[in-house]
Amino acid sequence: MFSLDKLIRDNIKKLTPYSSARDEFSGEANVFLDANENSLGSPLSKWYNRYPDPHQQKVKEAVSKVKNVNTERIFLGNGSDECIDLLYRSFCNPGKDNVIICPPTYGMYEVSANINDVEVRKAPLLDNFQLDLVHLENLADANTKIIWICSPNNPTANSLNRQDIETVLNNFNGLVVVDEAYINFSKQQSFTRELDEYPNLVVLQTFSKAWGLAGLRLGLAFASTEILGVLNKVKPPYNISQPTQELALKALEEIGQVNDMIREIVDMREALAEVFQRVPTIEKVYPSDANFLLIKIANARQVYNFLLSKGIVVRDRSSVKLCEDCLRITVGTEQENTELVDALKEWVESLT
Ligand SMILES: *Cc1c(COP(=O)(O)O)cnc(C)c1O
Repeated sequence: MFSLDKLIRDNIKKLTPYSSARDEFSGEANVFLDANENSLGSPLSKWYNRYPDPHQQKVKEAVSKVKNVNTERIFLGNGSDECIDLLYRSFCNPGKDNVIICPPTYGMYEVSANINDVEVRKAPLLDNFQLDLVHLENLADANTKIIWICSPNNPTANSLNRQDIETVLNNFNGLVVVDEAYINFSKQQSFTRELDEYPNLVVLQTFSKAWGLAGLRLGLAFASTEILGVLNKVKPPYNISQPTQELALKALEEIGQVNDMIREIVDMREALAEVFQRVPTIEKVYPSDANFLLIKIANARQVYNFLLSKGIVVRDRSSVKLCEDCLRITVGTEQENTELVDALKEWVESLT
């Protein structure tokens, strides 16, 4: 049986959270002398002298409409990276608990574990880049608090089988975090629809990819009100700045434009994949459900350096297990993609 109570660290259970001025008074008033702000204003605009809404209620309401998830099940972090860190700090006892990751995958799960002194166990993906359920089951013990699943996965670009993720959700009594940073570029259904079904589910999404707002630093966690209650206790009171909240609200009104960009990126991804398939020395173009392509190419490191000499930076993943001789390439603009393909052709010609 899943018991959230058993997962929470004792010090967090006992914690009296910081009570901000905005928490202690949130009614109507004209004169705010309760938060030691600069009452005269700021050099920028009159709003920025005030602390922002610690609960980001307006942004959550807008997200709720777009994502069709109740506001009480939405948490906003300073990037997904803050959500990841908060999950460790809330649920994992340093030096005692462990988590499981499925490499090759997003690097922050492990870095954040190391920062928090939490043991990382690894159940590498199978050769087809799918979950190794047997290995996962063998690794989990009474101190395993979180299993990290990234789907579509970075850097392999594929979605993980939904049934496999459901198997993990059904059979593991810790938290299962499904990181959907790239979900908008896939045809997969989001696991946010399954929050009623699984009390141990946390879904991560972000404004950094499809929404085109990596500079804003805004990540989303969807989970039960109980899980989010814990994250809200642990988070810094004003973790999302006023400008970020205002800009996110504006962006959320432009969902049509965002959907257009997603369609365009997916079209260009498919076109680029086809071109890659015809480039000699590219041995494999992995299927992608994301806004990047993973390709296997002879002498990947040399290709990487050659592209760099042309002013084109891709991600060299050739030293990553299961990604030997692989480059991860983000879909660019039409012109950038053309430049990249031309450079690759030049590389191939230089070989003969
Ligand atoms: C890019 C990415 C994120 C986004 O992190 P932010 O902190 O929100 O920018 C999260 N997860 C994965 C797997 C990613 O590739």
